[in-house]
Amino acid sequence: MRWSRSLIPTLREDPAEAEAVSHKLMIRAGLVRQLAAGIYVYLPLGQRVLDKINAVIREEMNRIGGQEITMPVLHPAEIWQQSGRWTAIGEEMFRLKDRNQRDLCLGMTHEEVVAWLATKEIRSYRNLPQIWYQIQTKERDEARPRSGVMRTREFLMKDSYTLDVDEVGLAKAYEAHREAYCRIFDRCGLRYYVVESDPGMMGGLGSHDFMAPSSAGEDEIALCATCGYAASAELARGVPASPAFPDWRPEEVPTPGAQTIPQVSALLKVDPALLIKSLGYVGADGLVLALVRGDQTLHEKKLARVLGGEIRPAHPDEIRAQFGASVGSIGPVGVKVPIIADACLREGVYVVGANRDGFHLKGVRPGTDFTARFADLHVVQLGERCRQCGAPVTVERAIEVAGIFKLGTRYSVPLRAVFLDETGQARPIWMGSYGIGPARIAAAAVEQSHDADGIIWPWSIAPYQVHVLPVNMKDRAQTETAERLYAELSEAGFEVLLDDRDERPGVKFKDADLIGIPIRVTVGTALVKDGVVEVRARRGREDRRVPPRDAPVTVKEHARELSRA
Ligand code: ATP
Ligand code: MG
Repeated sequence: MRWSRSLIPTLREDPAEAEAVSHKLMIRAGLVRQLAAGIYVYLPLGQRVLDKINAVIREEMNRIGGQEITMPVLHPAEIWQQSGRWTAIGEEMFRLKDRNQRDLCLGMTHEEVVAWLATKEIRSYRNLPQIWYQIQTKERDEARPRSGVMRTREFLMKDSYTLDVDEVGLAKAYEAHREAYCRIFDRCGLRYYVVESDPGMMGGLGSHDFMAPSSAGEDEIALCATCGYAASAELARGVPASPAFPDWRPEEVPTPGAQTIPQVSALLKVDPALLIKSLGYVGADGLVLALVRGDQTLHEKKLARVLGGEIRPAHPDEIRAQFGASVGSIGPVGVKVPIIADACLREGVYVVGANRDGFHLKGVRPGTDFTARFADLHVVQLGERCRQCGAPVTVERAIEVAGIFKLGTRYSVPLRAVFLDETGQARPIWMGSYGIGPARIAAAAVEQSHDADGIIWPWSIAPYQVHVLPVNMKDRAQTETAERLYAELSEAGFEVLLDDRDERPGVKFKDADLIGIPIRVTVGTALVKDGVVEVRARRGREDRRVPPRDAPVTVKEHARELSRA
């Protein structure tokens, strides 16, 4: 492709609203443009990257026996009402009415449609197993669309669905997907971890997320380098070190004006790990008191799982009505509400709120001075020990690039997707669902592979493979050599971008670094002076000076190396 005839609108300046590096670079390199909050146009370079990623995904899905279909974006409300998600999902779902006032929604995911299709087309065990997949637009009214294409309200997803006769079949299909996803990310040049995750709105028997480590990620994962344990922060369990417990006698101590853990800790000169943080939450069965150690943070999803359902922090007036004290002075001693305490609080002696403004209780022993249900509630932190092997765990930020779910019969039962077994008995189909986000893969690749000057595309998903850059378009020798190389390299099967713009050299070099094509062939003054062109890998920076006729061989050598990396 000739740059002069392309739409590659590069920008010198970072867009004002962008924070994530990938967001800035994808805008500046002319890959995407934002139409409205969380709604993007893919320009030619961005489209080429998506196409490459989708091609890898298609190959790997076909390899495990996936059959590509296309399901609609527009869904009738009925199937979502049957699964219960019409009401279970809140504002994230786009809903609308047609001209006859029928309720419709825009597909956030397609479990319901798949279950509906199965009711129509699957009759007997002879029709199973099946793997259906699509690469299709999803619509979700995300609360905080941000970070460029990483979290948008309209996005492409490859979603696949497996249908099996039983749990064993599902386990096989799940494992095949796990392996296929690993191959997809390996081929796309991403670093990633596979972690246990919380199935969330999908429901079902278990799930894993594929997490690409990056400081721009919205999620945290806990990892153990020793035994390989890896889990998303909402599930990860670590064992925190115990503080040295003092020999306290129970007593009430005045803590005027001290409301927060740091304030109480400073006033009483007590390690925060010897305080208990008491937090009021409202679940389906009313108010509960959740306790975590003062130096730790409550993970709301963990608490929600223990309570089974949605939860919210109690309002200050609800707290006062129940405990007779303000939010910062409540504690577990003598209260009537159910208490759920983090497992590490089973032992020790602590300072807790006294349920009286301006006072705390010192010397409180869980189990003796109050009873509680113990569960893992805290957010795992760096320095805790691995629950499996005892080695220290690390915590990293990461981008969720894919998720896989064992749905079981969560959808087939309510939608009545059944098959007849060998004995002629109707049984629900066992389903799995598997989602991967091409745009997130692109953004994660940029997060993991860039430098101060721009993107460094992994070979397999680069918009072009070779960038031919004649420095001075007024120099006939340069332009003719560049044209010849463009033709030869294209002929040899490379995807080549020829920067035939009559621009200053500085502009062309800056743009080349910015858009990050893996191999660059510079045709400049060295051609006239020394009879050579310069071939370099974007990743490397070292030029190899070769006569133009040898350039294709040098490019091939680079390509071989880059496609292996
Ligand atoms: P998140 O927790 O980040 O909201 P999710 O759990 O909602 O993700 P899934 O429903 O499992 O995601 O979707 C499968 C994949 O689709 C994700 O792993 C991600 O790659 C992609 N994806 C999900 N939501 C978005 C979005 N708003 N914008 C772009 N890609 C998305
Ligand atoms: Mg989501």
